[in-house]
Amino acid sequence: MTYIQINKVEKFENIVLIKFSCSDSIKKYFNEKEIFVEYDFNIDLIPDYILTIPALSNIIQVAWFTNSNVYIKDIDHTLLKALNNIREIFKKNFKNLDFSSIIQYENLKYEAFGENGIIQLFSGGLDSTATCIKNIKTKSTLAIIDFEPAGIHKDIINWAKNIYGNGTVARTNIYSFLNRKKLDNDFGTYTDGSWWGGVQHGMGLIGLTAPITYHLKSKIIYIASTHDDTFKDSWGSDPKTDNLMCWSNLKVSHQDYNFSRQDKLKKIIKPYVIENSFYPPLLVCNSYARKKNEYNCSKCAKCAQCIVALAIEELDPRKFGFNVTNKTFLWIKESLDTLTYFGRKSDFWTWQNAHKNIPKNVDDMKEFIPGTLTFLKWFSELNFKYDDYFNNTTVMRDRPGYKIKYVDSKPELTYEK
Ligand SMILES: [Zn+2]
Repeated sequence: MTYIQINKVEKFENIVLIKFSCSDSIKKYFNEKEIFVEYDFNIDLIPDYILTIPALSNIIQVAWFTNSNVYIKDIDHTLLKALNNIREIFKKNFKNLDFSSIIQYENLKYEAFGENGIIQLFSGGLDSTATCIKNIKTKSTLAIIDFEPAGIHKDIINWAKNIYGNGTVARTNIYSFLNRKKLDNDFGTYTDGSWWGGVQHGMGLIGLTAPITYHLKSKIIYIASTHDDTFKDSWGSDPKTDNLMCWSNLKVSHQDYNFSRQDKLKKIIKPYVIENSFYPPLLVCNSYARKKNEYNCSKCAKCAQCIVALAIEELDPRKFGFNVTNKTFLWIKESLDTLTYFGRKSDFWTWQNAHKNIPKNVDDMKEFIPGTLTFLKWFSELNFKYDDYFNNTTVMRDRPGYKIKYVDSKPELTYEK
C-alpha cells in the first residue's frame, strides 16, 4: 500500500513549514512536498499537532483517492475522528473508489482550548461577503486565505480589518503544492474536472484556520455555503462534510445553506447596501486573466455570472468592483451563444439560479448600463441548459501558483512565471 508521511514541522516566527514524503508511485501528484503557511502572528507557542492540521487537511484527499496510508506523529483526537467520518461520506459520494486508507499515528493529543469567538473564512466573494454581513453583529474574525499569486486585493483585507473590524491573513501554497493536472487527469471524472472545487477547498480552507483558532482561543468556524440543497452533485464544500470537520472542542458551521446565490444578493447584500449606502467590494473572479491590482477580470464566466446576478437585483455592478461597459452584455450573450464560457456543474447551478430569478417585468427595471435590459429579456426567454450553453471540455486548471523559495535558509512564497 502506498503512503504519505508527515515528517517534520519547522517554525520561523510566523511561518510554519510542514515537510512530508510519499511512495514513488504517487509523487506525480505533488509539485512540492512542503506545505508553507505564513500567518500574521507568532506561532512559537502553538503545538506541532495543531500546526500540522493545515497540511493534513489538504493532503488527506490525495491519500483517500490513491488509497495511501497517512503516517503522522501526533494528531488531535477530535480531528482523527472527524477525518474518519468525512472519509465515510467521500466513500458514499465516490462509489467506485475504495477509500480504505487509514491514518497511523504515535500519540493522540487533546486540549480543549476553544473558549469563545468565531472565525469566519472570508475571500471577498459573494458567498462569504453575504455570510459576513449576515453575522456582522457577532464581530467574528475574518480569516483570509491567500493561496495564489493574484492574491487577495488590498481593499478586501482593508474591508475585513478596518471596516468590518477583525481580520487575519494567511498566505500559503495549499493550491500550488499539488499537481492539479495529474490529479484532474486521473480523478477528474469524480470531481467534475476540478480537484480544488470538487474535493479540496472546503476541508482545506477550514484546516488552515487551526493555528488561528488556537491563537485566538476561538470556539467556532464559519464557512459560507456555495449552494443550497437544490444542488445535487458532490462538491468540495458541503454541509455534510464541512460540518464534520473539527479539532479540539471546536465546531465548524457551514453557513447560509438555506440561501441560494441569488437569495444572498437579494436578501442580505442588497438590504445592507440600501441601509448603509456602502457597497462592499466583491471579489468573485478566479480567472487567469485577473491581475493583482484588480478585483475581478470582468471577462470570465464567474465574473459574468455575478454581473448578471447584480443586474437582476437592480444593483450597479461597477460599484462592486466590475468593469462593465455598454459592450459587456452583448459580449456575455455572445459568450453564452458560442459556448465560450467554461463551466462546471456548480457554476451552471449559479447561472441557473440567476436565470430563475429574472423578474417578469424586465421593462420596468432600473438600467445602469445600456444593454442590460435587452440582455435580461433575451436571457429570460432562453431554454437554458448546461450542455447547450457551457463548454465543459476545457477545464480551467493549473492557474498560476506560488512556489517556495529559500532566502538565507528561511522559506518564502514567490511567484515565478
Ligand atoms: Zn473573472
